[in-house]
Amino acid sequence: SPHTGGEELEIAPISTWLPNLQRPLVISGPCSAETEEQVMETCRQLAATGKVDVLRAGIWKPRTRPNNFEGIGTIGLEWLRKAKEATGMKIAVEVANRHHVEEALKYGVDILWIGARTTVNPFSVQEIADALQGIDVPFLVKNPINADLELWIGALERLSGAGITKLGAIHRGFAKYGETKFRNAPQWQLPIELKRRMPDLPMICDPSHICGNRELLAEISQQALDLNYTGLMLESHIDPDNAWSDAKQQVTPARLAEIIDGLVLRNGYG
Ligand code: PEP
Ligand code: MN
Repeated sequence: SPHTGGEELEIAPISTWLPNLQRPLVISGPCSAETEEQVMETCRQLAATGKVDVLRAGIWKPRTRPNNFEGIGTIGLEWLRKAKEATGMKIAVEVANRHHVEEALKYGVDILWIGARTTVNPFSVQEIADALQGIDVPFLVKNPINADLELWIGALERLSGAGITKLGAIHRGFAKYGETKFRNAPQWQLPIELKRRMPDLPMICDPSHICGNRELLAEISQQALDLNYTGLMLESHIDPDNAWSDAKQQVTPARLAEIIDGLVLRNGYG
């Protein structure tokens, strides 16, 4: 019979690592940390909306093609630490290897995640799990680039095997060849099946990387809430058109607040 493992993972309620959570949980911030000013100002504006729970920023950027901005590196962690100190916002960063994990923990990053290009690689995921052995840091696993549910579950199992219980999943869509409406096809049936097999797993939608285009963000965000997702991860930038990565899909903190305000919480959640 096909492998259906994963259902037995120990998953801590999200309230153990994000107390006082309002629905939906909102994680926002720039695709990439670029300058200290950009990180601080984005964080201040997001905090002022009162709608964002966690600041995200890419420090090391896995780029599809070379000769693009590949991330500011460790100095950006210092900016995030300052932003956290100034606003009280929790911070979340993508890690892709042991070095990233060690640096992020040293700078007090609250939540780690692995990106779609890392989830596809069991060696990388295991290296990260080994680096976290016995450290129960909140950890979010983005779906792999390709529509392989077992690979997504396998990454969650490797992290669980290291003793991490504060787990969540991020749905960022699946790569397809050619011009399509979405940068990454949502293929909602995969996160729905993951949630069926692991009902305690918090599910977060990343409309930014699904859409690849800011005009579509509200539509995908609403669909995620209608499917009872726990939260959203949305990229934001003080000057989206001039962002050093993912410019087309980012929005200002003010626009982000409008998108959140426009969402309807159905399913009896108020
Ligand atoms: C990101 O979050 O900026 C990112 C690189 O996303 P993904 O891993 O989903 O491509
Ligand atoms: Mn991005």
